Amino acid sequence: MWGDHIVENLVGAHSFTVQGLIPNLYNTPHQQTGREYCVLRCDHTQDLRELGLQAQHRPRQSSAVWQKPTPAWRDKLVKTVEQRASNHSVRIFFRADDIGAGGQAFETLCQIFRFHQLPLAMSVVPAWVSTVRQQQLFAAAPLEEPLWGWHQHGWRHVNWQSSGKKSEFGDQRPFEKQWRDIWQGWQKMQILFQGLCLPVFTPPWNRLSLTTIKVLQKLDFKAVSITKPLPSGLKTPLGLANFRIQLDLHTRKAKDPEADFDKLLAELANLMDRREPSGIVIHHHRMNIFAFDFLHELLHLLKRREDVELLSFQEILEMENES
Ligand SMILES: [Zn+2]
Repeated sequence: MWGDHIVENLVGAHSFTVQGLIPNLYNTPHQQTGREYCVLRCDHTQDLRELGLQAQHRPRQSSAVWQKPTPAWRDKLVKTVEQRASNHSVRIFFRADDIGAGGQAFETLCQIFRFHQLPLAMSVVPAWVSTVRQQQLFAAAPLEEPLWGWHQHGWRHVNWQSSGKKSEFGDQRPFEKQWRDIWQGWQKMQILFQGLCLPVFTPPWNRLSLTTIKVLQKLDFKAVSITKPLPSGLKTPLGLANFRIQLDLHTRKAKDPEADFDKLLAELANLMDRREPSGIVIHHHRMNIFAFDFLHELLHLLKRREDVELLSFQEILEMENES
């Protein structure tokens, strides 16, 4: 029954022949789970393979929610995106963190966004990028291709806090040191991306301090991208927008996969009700085949909605300028 046959993708427009066993990329102890959601809806294993993902791809670490596909995950995702309650249009952006080298996961991520022709904000750790790694990045995401919103993700992605939550730019790091790190990061970004990097700063772990804001203002950055609102106690006008993240796909801490999958979808539904541009963050180092399949389906579903705009950082910066 799982031999060559056509599976019609009821959700989308494309259909294709599936060769052999369907959950072939899910060649894991959970192989059987693949069958349930492949009966009616085509899974993207063929797509993913064509986009460069190998069946043996395994990240070193991934959140519990991705470790095996939740039963009926595709139906649940379709329902979440298609049954959106609000009637105002929604603006969404995708941000990929911890960019600093090539590799299969990075290449597949780029291929998926290219396949859908959707923008992806690339959050680059400047100190990680050597000449060889720069070549790897541009081989997968060429500088001349307008999809990639290259911008700065801290300097070295190290934690300087001696206590509390991790941060590279926390309240324990004095102005001079924050200045030096962000400044040299920005200089390197200018060279690496030949002046094409955007004046947006994503601090590692989505955390910054009042001091960081002062440094960014002096360096003429136009936005930060974090999860929380900007810290209070700042003089206005700030001159800095916050491209807020509302959904973190891959660094989730919850231990119960099915409960966390439902929570993830609730966060997605909430994000789709918001009026300001809202972000979804990706960590490709932690993506397994299920996580890639989910992302592929999510992009596909969002793109089909006329009331969803998928924006680049450049477009959001331009909107901020106009308002
Ligand atoms: Zn990071």
